[in-house]
Amino acid sequence: MLPFTIYSPEEEIHLPLLKEKQIQLFIKRDDLIHPFISGNKWRKLKYNLEKATKLRKNHLVSFGGTYSNHILALASAGAKFGFKTTAFIRGEEVNNEILSLCKIFGMTLIFVSREAYKNKEVLYETTFGNTGDTYFINEGGAGTEAEKGCREVIKELQQQYDYIFCAAGTGTTAAGLINGINEQNLASILHVIPVLKGFTALREEIDSLLKKPINYVIHENYHFGGYAKTKPELIAFIKQFVQNTGILTDPVYTGKVIYGIYDLINADLFKPGSKILMVHTGGIFGILGMLDKF
Ligand SMILES: *Cc1c(COP(=O)(O)O)cnc(C)c1O
Repeated sequence: MLPFTIYSPEEEIHLPLLKEKQIQLFIKRDDLIHPFISGNKWRKLKYNLEKATKLRKNHLVSFGGTYSNHILALASAGAKFGFKTTAFIRGEEVNNEILSLCKIFGMTLIFVSREAYKNKEVLYETTFGNTGDTYFINEGGAGTEAEKGCREVIKELQQQYDYIFCAAGTGTTAAGLINGINEQNLASILHVIPVLKGFTALREEIDSLLKKPINYVIHENYHFGGYAKTKPELIAFIKQFVQNTGILTDPVYTGKVIYGIYDLINADLFKPGSKILMVHTGGIFGILGMLDKF
């Protein structure tokens, strides 16, 4: 067990639309878990770190883009729990706020071409294949350890909800939440907001991680053109939400989720009296890569 007690309350949001439609909206504040090891990236790392410890590996190796929430979380977690960390970063060498923070936390960065980046196992094997102390963590932390960690969000809930919303990239988090709902015998329905295009692959990925087939909903209208793509309408919405609640959301992930929730409430998808939970998956530093949009 890692020595880390987390704080992630369910906070009710009060806004005129919610009152008008008689909907209760809560946010599970996984963004408060830690400034850098935040949101679902902590959930996805937890059992990987425990497994690495059990296997006596002291060097974590992973992969990410230049603004990866996962890489920043890994760098910070490595420093906190006593692991060396190395990350393969996609593309030519650059510097930015996120990568600087990673280096300050002691992470070694290796920049690789987009071509080489495609085959992560090969990259890992050729660089670290002969060393016994390294532990491979896939891009974004994806995998069964990650799914298991995400189930714990549901276990912690203090109340029951009709609908639970989350963002999806790979879908590991969504799968963990669905398995958690099932494990806890809850009636909640998971609603997924994909932040990129290509929903067939996402559904397959989620389904492949489910312990039991269970109904969930994917909303395909809120990706705003794809991963890290945005529109002035989304930025304007985020600004207003942040200014009205004091809760930061970013344009890559959680901003799209809260936009979607709002739009669906507006369209009367939910009966009056419904209770909705949005899982804030953290990652607010993503905003640093898009400040020019604000
Ligand atoms: C990485 C990330 C996601 C996507 O999680 P998946 O498990 O890949 O679907 C969602 N939200 C935030 C804030 C993230 O950083």
